[in-house]
Amino acid sequence: MIEIGIIGGSGLYNVEGLKKIKEVSVKTPFGNPSDKIITGEIAGIKVGFIARHNRNHIFTPTEVPYKANIYALKKLGARVVMAFSAVGSLQEKFPPKTLVMPDQIIDKTTLRQNTFFGGGLVMHAPFAHPFCNCLQELLYKEAKKLKIRSAKGATLITMEGPAYSTKAESLFHKKMGWDLIGMTACPEAKLAREASLRFAQVCMVTDFDSWKEGDEVSVAKVNETMKYNEVAAKKLIVAAIPLIAKTACCENCKKEMPDLTASHNKQVNKKVLEKLKVILKQNF
Ligand SMILES: [Zn+2]
Repeated sequence: MIEIGIIGGSGLYNVEGLKKIKEVSVKTPFGNPSDKIITGEIAGIKVGFIARHNRNHIFTPTEVPYKANIYALKKLGARVVMAFSAVGSLQEKFPPKTLVMPDQIIDKTTLRQNTFFGGGLVMHAPFAHPFCNCLQELLYKEAKKLKIRSAKGATLITMEGPAYSTKAESLFHKKMGWDLIGMTACPEAKLAREASLRFAQVCMVTDFDSWKEGDEVSVAKVNETMKYNEVAAKKLIVAAIPLIAKTACCENCKKEMPDLTASHNKQVNKKVLEKLKVILKQNF
């Protein structure tokens, strides 16, 4: 069993300092997760790491089996999930090589299944505050202590991808006052909320998206900054895990956890309940 799940995005395919390593295949009613889950211990805390796009990077952001990933981490016992994602920045104040802990999401995805519910079981999870803000604060403070360039309180767009934005789209997003753009926080954060998991999101800024004249995003640019961000993210994980294991969910975050007793259905299909048993278990 694990306490904390870590989802690594582009540029983060493993964690450092992991002891007692095992590779675990987890079966889920939603198919196979992106990859085997690497379990182990950091400072005595049991964690499980999964590479969102597979360690061979074979899934586009649209193809990632998000439901299977979240289900598998919860099935292994995770109460907390930390997600790491490479993102583009829409604002000068969040330059490349910065780790940002956002507090809001704009979902602009179009091709994804974004809920565990359906098939006879209708539930609506609160999502006003998509991330566990106490975890975001903890990660921000810890990053500062480690002298990692970091920021907090940003609005993160999730776009479908895999192509990057046009200049017009990027300028539009910037003018709206949004801060970062990535391709995976939705449905990941939504599914984590439905599964009553405390969810932290660390955005690793790789580029200035497409708005900046003469400095438009390219794969080469992203790869260059990704290496720097990887080192910073790995340091942050090692330092933050023992602290996260010690903190309980704050009252504000608890209020946003879904009330899973409040299905609108009078008669819920037993097969659906069985399928979602792991997700419906409240363990925060
Ligand atoms: Zn919280």
